[in-house]
Amino acid sequence: MPDCIFCEIVNKRMKSEMIHEDEELVAFKDINPQAPVHVLVVPRKHIDSVNVVTLDDMILMGKLVLVAKEIAEKNNIDGDGYRLVINNGVNGGQTVPHLHLHILGGRRMTWPPG
Ligand code: 5GP
Ligand code: ZN
Repeated sequence: MPDCIFCEIVNKRMKSEMIHEDEELVAFKDINPQAPVHVLVVPRKHIDSVNVVTLDDMILMGKLVLVAKEIAEKNNIDGDGYRLVINNGVNGGQTVPHLHLHILGGRRMTWPPG
């Protein structure tokens, strides 16, 4: 997808602090962390948002959560807990139109979100 910053990061045309890479997913540190641990898990395949996820993406979406779980364990935030977030569209606060899962941990989150 031209002009997509996460496609650029996935394809290593743009730098990031990559912490996980497999055939379908990558994970890297958020450039503007909102918590001591703030990692983005991103499918290599460009998907705009949850709006356009289909049954064909079912396994990918499951793996997204499993990779997040592994990263939470490696960062020792699983015990105290953490938050997984997928912002969707304008009202959801999505700013990068390439589907991604935020892992936020290392501090107590509040609810409701802002
Ligand atoms: P969204 O608002 O779409 O849910 O989340 C996008 C996230 O991507 C934001 O938390 C933002 O800080 C992060 N981000 C935007 N541009 C870059 C970048 O170039 N590199 C990295 N590592 N994170 C980015
Ligand atoms: Zn993309």
